[in-house]
Amino acid sequence: MFLARRADTRPVRQYSGIMTGTLRRVALVSMHTPPAQQAGTGDAGGLNVSLIATAHELAARGVEVELLTRAAGAPRVSRVGAGVTLHELAAGPASVIDKSFLPGIADDFGEAVAELAGRDSSRYDVIHAHYWLSGIATLPVALELGLPFVQSFHTLGAMKNRHLAAGQTPESDMRMRSEAYLASQAGAVIAGSAAEVESLIDDARAPADRIWVIPPGVDVELFTPEHPDAAARVRRRYGIEEGRPIIAVVGRVQPLKDQELAIRALAGVHELRGWAPVLVVVGEATPGDERYLDSLRSLAVELDLAEEVRFVGALGREPLAELLAVASITLVPSHSETFGLVALESAASGTPVIGYRSTGLAESIAEGRSGLLLDTRDPRDWAHAITALLDDPAARAALSSSAREHALGYTWAATATALLGVYGSLR
Ligand code: UDP
Repeated sequence: MFLARRADTRPVRQYSGIMTGTLRRVALVSMHTPPAQQAGTGDAGGLNVSLIATAHELAARGVEVELLTRAAGAPRVSRVGAGVTLHELAAGPASVIDKSFLPGIADDFGEAVAELAGRDSSRYDVIHAHYWLSGIATLPVALELGLPFVQSFHTLGAMKNRHLAAGQTPESDMRMRSEAYLASQAGAVIAGSAAEVESLIDDARAPADRIWVIPPGVDVELFTPEHPDAAARVRRRYGIEEGRPIIAVVGRVQPLKDQELAIRALAGVHELRGWAPVLVVVGEATPGDERYLDSLRSLAVELDLAEEVRFVGALGREPLAELLAVASITLVPSHSETFGLVALESAASGTPVIGYRSTGLAESIAEGRSGLLLDTRDPRDWAHAITALLDDPAARAALSSSAREHALGYTWAATATALLGVYGSLR
């Protein structure tokens, strides 16, 4: 291990390949969202994709992985793959419940985890909590059993609050206090980007020497430009005629992701060119954001783009990979992203990204290599950037191949290896 120093000289640890001890079994906890839930539905997104990918990679390295989540029905245990088991534990009502009720049943969930772990006091070598709710539920268990505790926040309330969209409700003080507490108590805090490190240190007052930067990966075999016949399939699937450029915007539909900016930018392209490409909006509204999705549909009609904007709902990994391979550009207009997996998936698919220069996007998008970073949220500027890229096939082709190169630098294998190093260092 070595201490890497950022420009402002605060120390942040990066894994350098040393691992101590042998790990038998780890608990990866995701209380609020079932790890295998389809991303783009409910509350499922990057956390779920990353949890499943790292679970399989850890298992491939001989570590038994138990994924722990709250049962939204009858409690059960199931096999997710070789070496990966899912425990759905009873806590609170046996139904899907609003996220706002979850802090109230965190103790119950912690009890269920303690009971599972306590059946054999050496069941887990490490408890790794994902998202603050899993943290408040399982930190007490780790302390009680004397187990190493690792925390990944995925998103920090404070970081979200710094980049709130107009009209969005700020994250609660309770969440922020909990995040600060978890950051101070965890043996290791995993950050996905330097932007997250900054927020961890500045907002959550996390001790810098316990923060490890481990970026996520991307499945470059799934997300690849090489999807035989995908163009025809994608165009047939969404009824898009041959030759009409496709632009994608992918993610849970919510004000933070600002799909509105993408639609307004499309209107700008229409104005500049007299025609518009098709904008495929992928993802469902997050619970509570249904009205935002309705407002987007109305906006498309209002802007006379009902035909051009296609709301296709959440997509599974394969159809999503096909879409990204066929699209000419992917837009990531989010106000903030801890990292921004979609930007990496698009790059791996050989599709340039246009994103807003903020937080993690400034890292997941390699400026001039995987796409463009815009400093403005003015839809007219976005329209100009989109039009310029659409009109310049040579620039797009160059970006396409360098984007793929950029994405090849991020593998889930590296993520898992680095995690193993962190786990090992705590034992
Ligand atoms: N995603 C998906 N299907 C959808 C919408 C999103 O598989 O319909 C995936 C997307 O490919 C990415 C993840 O959900 O892997 C979103 O991660 P990102 O970091 O972009 O955003 P987050 O959800 O973490 O805010």
